[in-house]
Amino acid sequence: MEKLELRYEGKAKRVYATDQSEYFWVAYKDDATALNGKKKGQIADKGEVNNQLSALFFEEIEKAGILTHFVKVLSDRDMLVRCLDMIPLEVVVRNIVAGSLAQRLGVEEGFVLSQPVVELYYKDDELGDPLVNESHVAAMGWASDANTKEIQVLGLEINKILRAILVKAGIDLIDFKLEFGVLDGKVYLGDEISPDTCRYWDMETREKLDKDRFRRDLGGVEEAYQEVFRRVKKVLAKA
Ligand code: UDP
Repeated sequence: MEKLELRYEGKAKRVYATDQSEYFWVAYKDDATALNGKKKGQIADKGEVNNQLSALFFEEIEKAGILTHFVKVLSDRDMLVRCLDMIPLEVVVRNIVAGSLAQRLGVEEGFVLSQPVVELYYKDDELGDPLVNESHVAAMGWASDANTKEIQVLGLEINKILRAILVKAGIDLIDFKLEFGVLDGKVYLGDEISPDTCRYWDMETREKLDKDRFRRDLGGVEEAYQEVFRRVKKVLAKA
């Protein structure tokens, strides 16, 4: 597989064309941004953790019969993925209140929701990814009604898969963000599943093991990313 021209550079990844038009080469970076791009920095070896941890999660999700863009790991920091026609929405699934939901509802972080909550956000950096509902999505034509339903159902299924793994690693999955795309008329999970895009709390100590350590200047950022990767690897090696 040959890496060709850079097609897209995001905040945490570079996407390159390959010699096969149906695949992209994704290179994970150590760059980190938060607060809608106002806070910038680097997290040492984040690219390696996010690439390999995402690969482990994608494999487990595929095993459960859900399509993902993941094809294979190419190196510590690189993976091969299928090219998708991306749906311009972020699907956030929440089990415990944190972050923007705590602020929006005036509820304390850590409040346990009686059932998972699914939210849709319109992907637009300039607007700061506004919260939208199904009616906005339909009226704006961002996704078909069927695909809007499907990505929310898949979000909830993926929540169950991830929680089942993470509970064995002693980690509570607080919330996470997914992105989906379409290929040959079918919905695929895209993007990544990592401590950049999820909130993980240690089940015993309630210590944060995710990007909130960077967002909130809590220190121990690299160590938290490594710790999640180490624990998940161990759980899946035993499975
Ligand atoms: N999230 C993300 N990218 C975004 C916004 C949110 O990966 O652009 C993730 C975030 O890491 C968390 C979940 O989605 O796991 C919910 O985030 P929230 O809405 O609480 O926003 P935040 O507090 O991160 O601004």
